[in-house]
Amino acid sequence: VTRKERLTEIILAADARAAPDVDLASRMPQFIGLADNPGPVLRGLRVAVIGVGSVGGRIALHLARAQVAELILCDRSCFKKESLLTQPMLPEAICELKAGYIGRLCKLISPGTRILVFDGPFEELDAVALAEVDVVFLATDNLAVEVAVGQACKNLGKVLNHASVHGETLVAQVRCFGNTHDDGPCPACGFGADEWRHLHEQTAFKCELTEDGRPVQEIKVQPTVSVSFLCSMAADLAVLQMFRQVLKLGQPVADTLLEYSGFTHRTAPSPLKRNPECPCDHQVWKRMQPPRPLAACGLAELADAAGIANPSFLVDELAFVETASCPCGAKVEVQQFAPVDGPIASCQRCWNGLYADTFKSHRPVAARIAADVLDRPLKDIGAAEARWVVVRNDDRAALFTGPSALAGEGQGGPPPPPPPPPSPVQGEGENGR
Ligand SMILES: [Zn+2]
Ligand SMILES: [Zn+2]
Repeated sequence: VTRKERLTEIILAADARAAPDVDLASRMPQFIGLADNPGPVLRGLRVAVIGVGSVGGRIALHLARAQVAELILCDRSCFKKESLLTQPMLPEAICELKAGYIGRLCKLISPGTRILVFDGPFEELDAVALAEVDVVFLATDNLAVEVAVGQACKNLGKVLNHASVHGETLVAQVRCFGNTHDDGPCPACGFGADEWRHLHEQTAFKCELTEDGRPVQEIKVQPTVSVSFLCSMAADLAVLQMFRQVLKLGQPVADTLLEYSGFTHRTAPSPLKRNPECPCDHQVWKRMQPPRPLAACGLAELADAAGIANPSFLVDELAFVETASCPCGAKVEVQQFAPVDGPIASCQRCWNGLYADTFKSHRPVAARIAADVLDRPLKDIGAAEARWVVVRNDDRAALFTGPSALAGEGQGGPPPPPPPPPSPVQGEGENGR
C-alpha cells in the first residue's frame, strides 16, 4: 500500500492569457420551471471528474464554462498522437499528462474556478478526497477505477454521473447514481461475467511482480475506440443530467440510465436498480460533526455519538498496530495508530526501523481489538493528525470529519473553511438529504 496522494492546485503563470471577467448570466437561458438565475448555484458547485480523456475532458471544459467553484480532475495517463482523433486537445499536448493539461485549459477559461488535479490513479488519492464535492463524474474505461469511484461515491453519499460510449453501436450512455441510501445501485451492479473476469485479470497482473519488482504484465486498458462526436455527445448528456440535478429541472434523474442510440435515434431513460449479487460495499456513511475537536475525542465517544454498537473504525489513512518488530529480532507492543507503510518507529536495540507485524496491523480495526485504547483521545494513540474517522457496523456507518479534512489543502494551508453550505444536489425523496 502506498502513501495516499494529495491534489495539486493549478496556478496560472503571471503572463498567462486567461479569460477576463465574463458574466455567466449574459448567455444563461431562463430555464423553464426555474424561478431564479442559475448563476449562484453553478458558481457554488464543487465537482470532480475522474478520467479526463475523450469524454471526461469535455465534461471538465463544460464545467469551466459554467464557472463552477471548484473542479477536481484525476487521470493517470498522457495524450498520445492518436488522442487527436477523439480528445479535446491540440497537437502541442501530445505526451502531456491529461489532468494537468485539461486543468490548465479550464483555468484559462474560468480563472475564478479553483482547479485541483491529480496525475495518477484514482485509487492512490486520499479516501476522502471527494468528501467536499457536490457532484462526481466518472469517464473511464478502467473497470477497477469504476469500482473504486462507485464505492467512494456510495460511502460519501455523492451524486455520481457515469458517462460512456460504445463506438460500434453508436451508443452514448449516462448512468446517474443518487447514492442517497444503501439499497441504491452502484456502477458494479451492472457488471456481467465478462466485466468481472476482465477486472480479476487486471488485478492478478497487477499483483504479480518480476524479480526487480515491476509488474509481470502491464495492465492494458484498451483505448476508447470511438468517434469524436460520440464522445462529446456522452459528455454533453452527462453535463445535461448534472444541470437537471443541481437546478432541479424536470423529473429526478437519480438512479437512471439515459441512453442515446445513433442507429435508431432513440433516447431511452430506464431505472437502475441495485443488483443483490453485487459484491461491492453499498453503505452510505452519515456525515457527522465530532462532539469536540477530533484529536481530543476517543473512539468509544465517537461510536456513542453515532449510536453505533459493536463498531469497527477507519481512522484517516492509518492502521491500528498491535505489535511491531525489527529485522534484528526485537519485538515491541505498540497498541497505536500508525501509517500503513514505512517504519513506525526506531528499534531501541539497533536503531533500524521497526515495522508493523502484518497480522497484528488492522485497517479497519474492530472495537474488541483496540479495546485498550477506545477511551483515550486520538492525539494520545498516534492519530493526533487524523482528519477523519469512520465508525461502522453492518447496519450503519458515520463519517466524522475534523475542520481540516478538505482535500488539496496541503500542509500549513489556509485556515479551516467554514462548514459547507447545504448541498444543492437533488436526490430522491426529501431534497436529497
Ligand atoms: Zn453494486
Ligand atoms: Zn532492531
